Amino acid sequence: MKVMIDPGHAGSYYNASPVVPGYYESNMTWSLAWKLKSALEARGFTVGLTRWDKNEDPELTERGRRSRGYDLFLSLHSNAAATSAPDAPWMIHFAPDGKTSIDEKSRAVAEILGQAVSKTMGVSAPYYYTKKTDFDRDGNGYLDDEWYGVLFGAKSVGVPGVIIEYSFHTNEKAARWLLNESNLIKLAEAEANALAKYYGMEVTEEMTAAEKKAFDELKKEVEKLVKANKALKDRIDRYDEMGVYDNAAIKWAYIDKNLPDWARPTIKKLADKGILKGSGNNSLELSWLMMRILVILDRTGVFG
Ligand SMILES: [Zn+2]
Repeated sequence: MKVMIDPGHAGSYYNASPVVPGYYESNMTWSLAWKLKSALEARGFTVGLTRWDKNEDPELTERGRRSRGYDLFLSLHSNAAATSAPDAPWMIHFAPDGKTSIDEKSRAVAEILGQAVSKTMGVSAPYYYTKKTDFDRDGNGYLDDEWYGVLFGAKSVGVPGVIIEYSFHTNEKAARWLLNESNLIKLAEAEANALAKYYGMEVTEEMTAAEKKAFDELKKEVEKLVKANKALKDRIDRYDEMGVYDNAAIKWAYIDKNLPDWARPTIKKLADKGILKGSGNNSLELSWLMMRILVILDRTGVFG
């Protein structure tokens, strides 16, 4: 999946917020574009930017056309209103055209991203918007052309596009929120996850600092348990080999390879001498403890 991101506007100081000193739309879109790019790449997307220089200012339809060969075009902005009250994302998508499926895709992406943006920013539900020209802009005989230059450009190369207005920089709360770089990271992560879900790619939820700490501690505990378990299992195996768990149980019947090496010479000697006769069916009926006692006695020389 290939996503083309258009950081809206150019330069650092374009479209200042009238209510929050230091907020500029062009700074925000530039910063967010790069964050969204890495968040998408982390989930397996290929991501391009319509411009790689902060001061480059391609013409609007040209920005859209730069998405040729991509699966999706996103143009990032913050909106402005005459009053300071409006505070909701505006998702501008393709108008229904009744001919292609890219208008439906454009609408679907607008919806999933709109929800992610509203939720992350903690603002009102997204507002969806479309606008067509009242003239045949591309001369194909239909009045189906997008009014917004970037969307017109994307549609001309067959790529579904969405303009995302991250609420209004004329709203103080929204502009303050967007001025915070860590909020932009949250926004990028949420949008990348929404797109990953939509396109069936890997979704990685970001852990909070507290979750990460708890996870690391749990991991250490598990590693400790695995290590302790291994040591315990080794000990159990060793004791089992020694027959510690069934000292008195009859485990050996014949002088064969199963008989422990340390016991074999003594047992063989006692059988040869007829001291050890076993039961009626030729079974010696030896236990680990019994063999041990016989070996100790043998060392004292009582069996000759
Ligand atoms: Zn803008």
